[in-house]
Amino acid sequence: MQTGGNEGQWITVDEDGRMHVPDRPIIGFIEGDGTGPDIWAASQRVLDAAVRAAYGGTKEIQWMELLAGEKALAQTGKWLPDQTVQDLRRCVVAIKGPLTTPVGGGMRSLNVTLRQVLDLYACVRPVRWIRGVPSPMKHPEKVNMVVFRENTEDLYAGIEWPAGSKEAEKMRAFLCEEMGVCLREHSGIGVKPMSRFGTERLVRRAIQHALRHGMPSVTLVHKGNIMKYTEGAFRQWGYELAAREFAENTVTEDEVTARFGGQAPAGKIVIKDRIADAMFQQALLRPEEYHVLATPNLNGDYLSDALAAQVGGLGMAPGANIGDRCALFEATHGTAPKYAGLDKVNPASVILSGAMMLEHMGWVEAARLVEKGLERTVSEKIVTYDLARQMDGAREVKCSQFADAILERLSD
Ligand code: NAP
Repeated sequence: MQTGGNEGQWITVDEDGRMHVPDRPIIGFIEGDGTGPDIWAASQRVLDAAVRAAYGGTKEIQWMELLAGEKALAQTGKWLPDQTVQDLRRCVVAIKGPLTTPVGGGMRSLNVTLRQVLDLYACVRPVRWIRGVPSPMKHPEKVNMVVFRENTEDLYAGIEWPAGSKEAEKMRAFLCEEMGVCLREHSGIGVKPMSRFGTERLVRRAIQHALRHGMPSVTLVHKGNIMKYTEGAFRQWGYELAAREFAENTVTEDEVTARFGGQAPAGKIVIKDRIADAMFQQALLRPEEYHVLATPNLNGDYLSDALAAQVGGLGMAPGANIGDRCALFEATHGTAPKYAGLDKVNPASVILSGAMMLEHMGWVEAARLVEKGLERTVSEKIVTYDLARQMDGAREVKCSQFADAILERLSD
């Protein structure tokens, strides 16, 4: 394992959850499978150069490679070695390329496993259009949202039993005999748990983000009209949390109508809610009215990919999984194995996730340089194959050349 070098220092988190980032922090990286090595090589060069350009050598990331996926399997016989989980905890901040999910054999997705073992309860996906990126929207510039999706509960908790199994039959008998709910024979059964605790910590983080970034609204997205005690409770607990912990800074949409003539008081964040299906329509028809979205796990899964498509697709979409202690920034697409080793695919998702990571560390100047460099490159129509095939007059470049082009546009 490549370590962070002699000069590296660990990031620490104090009892209030405040993170302290030294000038030479040790940051973990998981290269990823398939196209991961190409993407990671390109991304690492851009991130290091942006940090150098922003801080003139006074700050520098000390990268520490962590093994997961196929590389880990080849070297250790395990898809996710215990050492990697320990090192991720120690690093506090890490970034990863895409990982293969082994098909069959009852193995859960490595991504889902990492979120659960590190309690990375918020999946954060900023969705913003970058000038020049092909989009199916007439006005993609109106889309500027951040999705906070709950990561540990809901149907994704993985509590389910196959049709006809002993467990499913036992559950079916219990439901019929004890609860008066009789299911069809040969039903697969899944459980959808959603707790006040899980909802509150997610909504708290979403509101804090809106406050920190001066965003005017937080929308609770739910299907509470049908699933009253899970999704409906998410809505209710979200409003209660806002009223209890952020009374000074928030106002509900109903209050804006009833007490303020439809105009939110200056400086207050409007808390509103939308039923999930209506939210999909709103995201297409009136995206400018939405800023931070807080969602349960399954709704958020669909919504964040749909929103990413509105601004150019998953190849461009950054993401992070964040808990109270650790944060793992990641590509939102998969390993695209057919392009492995061809130096072909778009590294923008990991590069922009890296910018999110720098911002999370408080290295905002470097984050802005990465974003600007990437925006300038794309707006000059220097792009990888995926965007080139949708653009007129594009100059198609390889993955590594796309990174070179960003590097040339970092500083001026
Ligand atoms: P995928 O790897 O995302 O690839 C699907 C298609 O998306 C590719 O064929 C390619 O489209 C396009 N694509 C993906 N990444 C791209 C990039 N960086 N630049 C340009 N285009 C890109 O999805 P998959 O084939 O369903 O999954 C492959 C493996 O990845 C599976 O093992 C899956 O479990 C895993 N996966 C991992 C993650 C993760 O680690 N976060 C997420 C999703 C899937 P074209 O063919 O049109 O060129």
